Amino acid sequence: MAKLNAKNLTIGENVIGVGTTHVAIDVLELNRKQTNKGVNYINEKGDIKLATINWNGGCARGFPKFIPLYKEKNGLINEGKIGNAKSILTSMKNTLDIEIEVLKENPKFFLCDNPACYSCRVSWEHSEKKQIKFIFNWLKINFKGLSYSRFKNFYKVIYKKQKK
Ligand SMILES: [Zn+2]
Repeated sequence: MAKLNAKNLTIGENVIGVGTTHVAIDVLELNRKQTNKGVNYINEKGDIKLATINWNGGCARGFPKFIPLYKEKNGLINEGKIGNAKSILTSMKNTLDIEIEVLKENPKFFLCDNPACYSCRVSWEHSEKKQIKFIFNWLKINFKGLSYSRFKNFYKVIYKKQKK
């Protein structure tokens, strides 16, 4: 689509992405340590099949970080409203070029800022690889009232059980 100079119309403020970020991620061979294994489904013959994702995708919360760059570097053709929905029209060639340029310099650019995001904090080969910190942040967000000292004690108990 980028080679054909296609345009992408995004309608709605909470619609994420311009259709090229995952391509930039693949072009630069930014890989995941643990990819999504997929989802089982029943096909028309009644057989259970596994639908797998054959591309790297990414966390949708990080992709909007590119939007100011699309505006600054000619990726954005126009923006306005369609009905009541905020909308943007982008050049897929230009957004892909911008994403490749930015991710070459900083492969972590598309990662979101959520300390408890599994995709961004753990799943990529270039994630920060601080799994204990990630687990703590995930627990802290999902179990209110958890302190670091309680977590450390909890972790020690789990770790000792695994060693036995
Ligand atoms: Zn994320």
